[in-house]
Amino acid sequence: MIKICIPTNFNQKDLCESFKELKHKKRILDKNVTYEDILLNVDEEYKRECLIVDKDSNYTEYMTKMYKKLSNSSYKKSYPYYKKIRKNASYCPFCNIPTREVTQVDHYLPKSQFPSLSLVIKNLVPICSDCNKKKSDFFPKDNGIRFIHPYYDTIKDKIFELLNCKINKGNEIGFYFFIDKKNDEDQSISENLDLQFQLLKLNKPYSADFLQVFNEIIWEIKPLYENKDINESIEKKSARILEVKKLLQKKMNYSLEMKIRPWVYVGCKCLIESDWFFDEYLENINICKKLYS
Ligand SMILES: [Zn+2]
Repeated sequence: MIKICIPTNFNQKDLCESFKELKHKKRILDKNVTYEDILLNVDEEYKRECLIVDKDSNYTEYMTKMYKKLSNSSYKKSYPYYKKIRKNASYCPFCNIPTREVTQVDHYLPKSQFPSLSLVIKNLVPICSDCNKKKSDFFPKDNGIRFIHPYYDTIKDKIFELLNCKINKGNEIGFYFFIDKKNDEDQSISENLDLQFQLLKLNKPYSADFLQVFNEIIWEIKPLYENKDINESIEKKSARILEVKKLLQKKMNYSLEMKIRPWVYVGCKCLIESDWFFDEYLENINICKKLYS
């Protein structure tokens, strides 16, 4: 969900020439030039690809084999380009989870359906293995909903607006994250993001990470709620709430300013706006044995 730059320290010709022998070189070079147009009409491109595959039944297999060479460290000349593409992001541009290592390269338009794009730099995007596995061979059929393209789509700030959170107010508190399409003027972005969010099953890692943050927050504010006087004044209660809100706001500011872990921003915002959290959850904090015993 973050925008990253197309690698600039080498070009398509360099990559093609790193192979001892590579068929269809001209086509690959051309596709890299027309890639932006291809994205505008994926259907047309898919039809063109089908025609090539119909004429040459070994085409997909050949291009897949060449990609395997690119990603194989024993091919000393071509592998450095694969490595440069993979190292082009400090964390996965699809999930933004800092703890997931970027270990793979994704074909934004899958090589199984678009073999001509198997070695096209603009189609090769760094990705973590979890996202790669879940994204699999997905591509936008009928020019419809698609994944956010890390080289072309800027949604860095949008995610802070479009991600939303609900508190599960059960016996054990939990958080549910989702893409809120109603907040978006440009429906296509939120629809694409929603699809990506659901296919990559991002609620699970986001809510698990936020639960950790939440537990740390509770640990920090716990002393404010210990030994409180039953007859305490309204002023004292208000001051305590203000203290908690300040801490949540601090976490929100950090996430927003550093543009990291948007779920922390959204989760804390959700808590700040929740009367239930302040009036019921925190007021009964001392009986939450699981967290504090
Ligand atoms: Zn990922």
